Amino acid sequence: MTDYPKLCMIIDGERVEAGDRRTFTVRNPATGDALGELPLADAADLDRALDAAARGFLIWRDSTPQQRAGVLQGAARLMAERADELARIATMEEGKPFAEARVEVMMNVGLFNFYAGECQRLYGRTLVRPAGQRSTVTHEPVGPVAAFSPWNFPLGNPGRKLGAPIAAGCSVILKSAEETPASALGVLQALLDAGLPKEVAQAVFGVPDEVSRHLLGSPIIRKLSFTGSTIVGKQLAKLAADDMKRTTMELGGHGPVLVFDDVDVDRVLDVMVPTKYRNAGQVCVSPTRFIVQEPIFERFVAGFAERAKTIKVGDGLNADTQMGPMANPRRPDAMERLIGDAVAKGGILHTGGERIGNQGYFYAPTVLSEVPVEAEIMNEEPFGPVAILNPFSGDEEMIAEANRLPYGLAAYAWTADSRRQKIVAREIESGMVGINSVMIGGADSPFGGVRWSGHGAEDGPEGVQACLVTKVIHEG
Ligand code: NAD
Repeated sequence: MTDYPKLCMIIDGERVEAGDRRTFTVRNPATGDALGELPLADAADLDRALDAAARGFLIWRDSTPQQRAGVLQGAARLMAERADELARIATMEEGKPFAEARVEVMMNVGLFNFYAGECQRLYGRTLVRPAGQRSTVTHEPVGPVAAFSPWNFPLGNPGRKLGAPIAAGCSVILKSAEETPASALGVLQALLDAGLPKEVAQAVFGVPDEVSRHLLGSPIIRKLSFTGSTIVGKQLAKLAADDMKRTTMELGGHGPVLVFDDVDVDRVLDVMVPTKYRNAGQVCVSPTRFIVQEPIFERFVAGFAERAKTIKVGDGLNADTQMGPMANPRRPDAMERLIGDAVAKGGILHTGGERIGNQGYFYAPTVLSEVPVEAEIMNEEPFGPVAILNPFSGDEEMIAEANRLPYGLAAYAWTADSRRQKIVAREIESGMVGINSVMIGGADSPFGGVRWSGHGAEDGPEGVQACLVTKVIHEG
């Protein structure tokens, strides 16, 4: 049994405990019980983190690719060795089933190993010039990065936020969600244990608005990397713009799923229903608006509801749990508001639509159909265990519905028609499109959105590139 660790910040290699600082109570969402008290940074803590990051950048930008690769590979090995412990902590903090948390550990392992290779392939180029002259294009690390990661992937988000800057030769100050701090600290600790110099990566927590204003107000920080809601992302992008800092923004989505009438309905349901309820729907690429062609609509709704009803909801640490609680009390409140509004406006509730029990933050897997476009849930990212199923007739109408919202993160389409596959893939405005597939990520694959879902990508070579700036040296 993993004991929940004593919480701290890590600044300049030092474990900073609460002392007389303000604290935040971290709770287990399956029970509502307190797990620990998290120290929140004051201005002096943040200044120390900035000072360390400035020194860390000077050290790490001069590291060899082999040193960076060694640290990333070492951290990957340590995370794999500690996988059960890290996954249990993530489940205790966030609620997701243990097996899902373990997948997150292995995603980090894969990503760090990929970045270890990628940082040894950061080439420049030499331009053609007359004899006696030389022009060289080089890529340099952007500088100290301020990274903000949310609670829904307590291990995977910090892994992305730390891995890319470290591969690129930057230093980084990570403020991960106050609700899931021990998971983030576990990822950073693996890097430090693998030999990352203590100045290169810091973990702070605090009042989010205070921390982001302080860090982004400092000229030491040269890049903002944020994952979270569109509304917060827009605020942070404005703060970054004041100093023209680089940005990578991974924001919200409202995943459309086009299901055409030429598919094997049962096969689509067998894939899409578990994908919908993964992490209780608290996933930025969660499939949300099911845009179903009319001839198969009734069968699709019946099959969806039938499968949703069988999902075993419980504490993520129980072996048979398929869906855990929601991560915090704000989410079931949001579900009540959004689902209540949808039903009041004429949507049909097939299953779910209620909290489960009076302990923790559980909400039942929910299926809604025929929800009018005016309903809030048709426009606001639900971020919860609710599927919205609506009937449509023609291809153009279905594509128009997919593109109706300003979000563009992940979209999915199911059709056996190969010409239609290509048209849909091209016409949907989205950073990632899954055609007859929900496998839209991977260490080697850029992950990111367009429009209100943000810009820039994490993972893949693009993840490292996003932490580099270009310099050209002309020698005459
Ligand atoms: P929120 O928008 O307040 O917080 C989202 C994340 O941003 C949290 O980790 C929070 O600590 C951080 N944050 C908030 N204000 C910040 C600030 N000023 N500076 C820096 N970081 C800040 O709300 P929430 O209740 O935690 O989540 C609500 C919504 O956020 C969800 O409905 C969903 O739309 C979105 N969300 C998206 C993702 C994602 O992966 N893109 C993850 C979590 C939440």
